Amino acid sequence: MDNKHTITIAKGDGIGPEIMESTLEILKASGAPLKYEEIEIGEKVYLSGEKTGIKKEDWETIRRNKAFLKAPITTPQGGGYKSINVAIRTSFGLFANIRPCKTFKPFIKANCGDMDMVIVRENEEDLYTGIEHQQTNEVVQTLKIISKPGTKKIVRYAFEYARAYNRKKVTCMTKDNIMKQTDGLFHKIFDDISKDYPEIETEHRIIDIGSAVVATNPERLDVVVTLNLYGDIISDIMAQVAGSVGLSGSSNIGHNRAMFEAIHGSAPDIAGQDIANPCGLLHGAILMLDYLGLSPYAKMIEAAALKTLEEGIHTGDLYQEGVTKRKVGTKEFTKEVIARLGQEPTKIKVRERNVKPIEISISDTRDNVKTLEGTDCFLDWDEDDRNPDILAAKLIEASKDSILNLKVITNRGVKVYPDGMPETFRTDHWRCRFVPAEGTKVTNKDIIDLLSKISDSNLDIIKTENLYNFNGERAYSLTQGE
Ligand code: NAD
Repeated sequence: MDNKHTITIAKGDGIGPEIMESTLEILKASGAPLKYEEIEIGEKVYLSGEKTGIKKEDWETIRRNKAFLKAPITTPQGGGYKSINVAIRTSFGLFANIRPCKTFKPFIKANCGDMDMVIVRENEEDLYTGIEHQQTNEVVQTLKIISKPGTKKIVRYAFEYARAYNRKKVTCMTKDNIMKQTDGLFHKIFDDISKDYPEIETEHRIIDIGSAVVATNPERLDVVVTLNLYGDIISDIMAQVAGSVGLSGSSNIGHNRAMFEAIHGSAPDIAGQDIANPCGLLHGAILMLDYLGLSPYAKMIEAAALKTLEEGIHTGDLYQEGVTKRKVGTKEFTKEVIARLGQEPTKIKVRERNVKPIEISISDTRDNVKTLEGTDCFLDWDEDDRNPDILAAKLIEASKDSILNLKVITNRGVKVYPDGMPETFRTDHWRCRFVPAEGTKVTNKDIIDLLSKISDSNLDIIKTENLYNFNGERAYSLTQGE
């Protein structure tokens, strides 16, 4: 009987093909029982006219196999097609991005003490939903979406991970002093779930000082759980501080399937030169072998790679005068790792592996009593010197027969009416908050009626955001002085 695991592979763009070739050679030499189904994704596929960057039949291949080993792909900046990495992670529900990172001093120069940390990054939500709009001549916006089930899943996963890997502390990083609703929800769920893990130390850090700790004292951190964007940024800082962005791999975990990759990108600046460090993707492959229950092979490959590094055989990104014995290219590094399969490093310790698969379940969240309290009506308005008092007068006149009354106007979140300050800079994008007299109930129909009156007075409504109260608690941000 054939006991081989079939995995999907994609060679990607830039240095992708070189580091994938290296990783596959090492996997094959290790004897790991794997079979490969290759798909093509990335730049070439986009350019051939396939808008998603993956052909229809290749989505099926990814679906069919439990594991996907993917080399980096080029995503254009500022315009062009959407990130295919994000599309794969979200379409297949790969909600947890796990990025372990360790220092290997003195063999690899690191700008910190002895670090051994893991970033557990939320992978499906936050600003990566990519929902963006230009709304006025001057203003564009992006939607930051944080859900309760999404947050519960990632926070629960972080604690289960800490328990499974015998880690002592979980640190949550958010910016909830500013984003009280979105980041505030993440922090609150972290506090709630932490109560189920009394043996694990917990802490919360604001992301700005948290990033500074990653950059200067990462040895103080153990497991870090954070939102999508912050996790993306601090893991590159972490990897670079540990020695090179070329060393770390990551897993993207979903229910019964996962994708493995390097944390770095396609490095087009060094593509095709045989100088890329294959260790990031190789680390991804090691995480994949553990995930597939093939830990003896994972351990063997990790040991061989660490022994190679320990003996001073380094790619250019790791070069260090006095420590590097031989600077090698991608192909030669690969040969050296293969030659050491079955050997152990002398100084660096290879991780013991006795970890069971992590399973999580989350509770239902549909227990809310939701009450409508008013609406924020956003306008594109560029008249009368952008004088907010004039805009307020027009809105008060337009809404005189509505049960909703103008309460406040803000511009880029700053209150400009009533009692605005003349110094405040004003764009053409206005948020106008309408609420009823105290004790009066509001319905959606009241809001639609208000909007129709505002529209009849020739004001340009670009969107509305309704104001809700959930379970007796205000569920929207206040403006200054409200
Ligand atoms: P990058 O990570 O590709 O490169 C940053 C720097 O690190 C470059 O100087 C590069 O030469 C170096 N570097 C990266 N990997 C290396 C390795 N293995 N060995 C030696 N040096 C290495 O980041 P970037 O330049 O910002 O992005 C390039 C492209 O990759 C962009 O299109 C970006 O969208 C994409 N990207 C893809 C992924 C992914 O597929 N998961 C992740 C990040 C970025």
